[in-house]
Amino acid sequence: MRLRNVAGSREAIAESAYVVPEEVMFEKPGKWAEIFGNNNPIHIEIGMGKGQFIHALAKKNPQINYVGVEKYSSVLIRAIQKMEQEELPNLKFLRMDAEDVDKVFGTGEVDKIYLNFSDPWPKDRHAKRRLPSREFLARYDKILKKDCKLEFKTDNRDLFDFAVEELEPAGWKAEVITYDLHADAKLVEGNIMTEYEEKFSSMGNPICKYIIFR
Ligand code: SAH
Repeated sequence: MRLRNVAGSREAIAESAYVVPEEVMFEKPGKWAEIFGNNNPIHIEIGMGKGQFIHALAKKNPQINYVGVEKYSSVLIRAIQKMEQEELPNLKFLRMDAEDVDKVFGTGEVDKIYLNFSDPWPKDRHAKRRLPSREFLARYDKILKKDCKLEFKTDNRDLFDFAVEELEPAGWKAEVITYDLHADAKLVEGNIMTEYEEKFSSMGNPICKYIIFR
């Protein structure tokens, strides 16, 4: 069960110093260096959930700036609480629908994009809402710097097969495709588990992953 409404989460998010208000970002795409106060590379996770993965990455790599994008306040609030326990200067959050992601980052402003355990939207008529769809890849194409990579992990084989099929029509190429990440000693090295990855791999589900570029 996912809680859609955690009491007071909207207010807490509006007041949080860790969350960059969406309206501010709409006014100034291309200004993330100003927000972080440095010119370090920017890596983003779209649909970060409670932020376990991106918080761990930000802690491990202080020389990289991270932005976690999450649609729901009730989930984002958990990432904020984690930051209150362990504050990191190189991690910020955006509460927004990812369909506007190319309006809050400038052209080529992002150095890496992560998608982890994105919602499957199983009905065909909802294919455009899937975060690895060609429609979303076109948005990522604008904001991702040339020669930079996008990484996607999921245990949902149907979603993964769809995502792989979208690559060619969208003009992207795969550098890595695996259908069992945890069984691949080389690829799994340095792997940081997301909350969903822990949950689904502990149930025995293999984890699919691709790394793509264009
Ligand atoms: N990445 C986390 C959470 C996976 S669940 C993990 O691997 O553990 C997918 C998350 O993506 C949910 O929190 C959901 O609210 C968010 N999400 C789905 N569609 C989104 C969209 N269009 N924009 C922003 N966030 C979205």
